[in-house]
Amino acid sequence: MFEEEVQDASVVVYKKKRRLQQALWLIYQQGVCTLSQLAKGVHTSVPSVTELVEQLIQENWIQTVGTVTGNNGRRPTAYSLNPDFHRVVVLDINTHGLSLLVIDTRHEVVFKHEAPVPLENSESYLETLKSFVMETFAIIPFPEGTVMAIGIAMPGLIDEQTGKNLTYPKLNITGVSFKEWIKHQFSLPVFLINDTKATVLGESRFGRGQGSRHMFSLNIDWGVGLGIVLNGEVFQGASGFAGELGHIQVEADGQRCYCGKIGCLDTITSAPSVVRRIQKLMKQNDAYPEQEIAGLTIDRVLELAHWQDPLVSQVMYDTGFQLGKGLATAITILNPEIIIIDGILAQAGELITKPIQEAIETYCMGAFLDKIRVEVTRLDGNAKWMGTHAYVMENILNLL
Ligand SMILES: [Zn+2]
Repeated sequence: MFEEEVQDASVVVYKKKRRLQQALWLIYQQGVCTLSQLAKGVHTSVPSVTELVEQLIQENWIQTVGTVTGNNGRRPTAYSLNPDFHRVVVLDINTHGLSLLVIDTRHEVVFKHEAPVPLENSESYLETLKSFVMETFAIIPFPEGTVMAIGIAMPGLIDEQTGKNLTYPKLNITGVSFKEWIKHQFSLPVFLINDTKATVLGESRFGRGQGSRHMFSLNIDWGVGLGIVLNGEVFQGASGFAGELGHIQVEADGQRCYCGKIGCLDTITSAPSVVRRIQKLMKQNDAYPEQEIAGLTIDRVLELAHWQDPLVSQVMYDTGFQLGKGLATAITILNPEIIIIDGILAQAGELITKPIQEAIETYCMGAFLDKIRVEVTRLDGNAKWMGTHAYVMENILNLL
């Protein structure tokens, strides 16, 4: 008898916990919810959701935000997450800089600090990072204790279980993973995610991927990464390495990639590779002054592409086509509904999406083509931090 009662009690506790998590997630995604919207969203009655709401107000998770106009002229009370508590620090670590953002529960950036410190595979980088974060924490204009966690997005092969970044092994000092080291330094829960996976999560929760159960985001920046969402969740793979599209071979006799292999897609389609290829072709063409070739940047390449420079346009087309060819294999295996183009090359718009689409049409079976869309991000460079914040929130809510 006693055991059954204990079991019944634990089921009740579990169900209540699930409803709390669902209610918070609903308000997080929608911004503002009424009691009846919450009751519908968490599949329970209004009296029972009222009890949940009271608990969430007491715990500073949510607050009333006045009334909204409802049916029959009724004006039900609306609730939003409380922006003064449960803030999250998002640390964007990348190969050209470092930025620390404080995000409130309404996913708004309320503080930002940047430093032009590129990510390095060295123990001394850890000290640089620590100083940057400590200096920034000292100037954050919010009371201590209102930041609940740190979310980190960074490139590299991140082992989700151990918290190690295997591409930057020197950041995992003896016996301690990078994630554990950060946690130890700042005494806050830490959630570490690969930058491409953070981007696809941002697209899935807040961008053009909203409502799609199966989707990709192709991040074309200083490397090429494929973010995969299957059944609404980011697909990590056994060790967290899924989606390393940049390291499939496309040229058997191509250049050596930084990963150690030959002719990876990254060696011809990442932003630095595109610049290098264009520089090589410009040198064979008298129309381009030496100074222009030597100082060529990806921003200048994008500018020349928009002016329809024939040489640059051809390289952009080849780049898109090679990316599309690589994507066609992933599409054939996983059958996504939408592919969202992110990263610096997304600024090329149709110049990059058109050849991608053409390659997909060339290499994918016709049956795949009816449903698939290739679109440029609408999140304007914000998908990565939005996804990192969502990753932290999803994990924190699961721990409630
Ligand atoms: Zn490679």
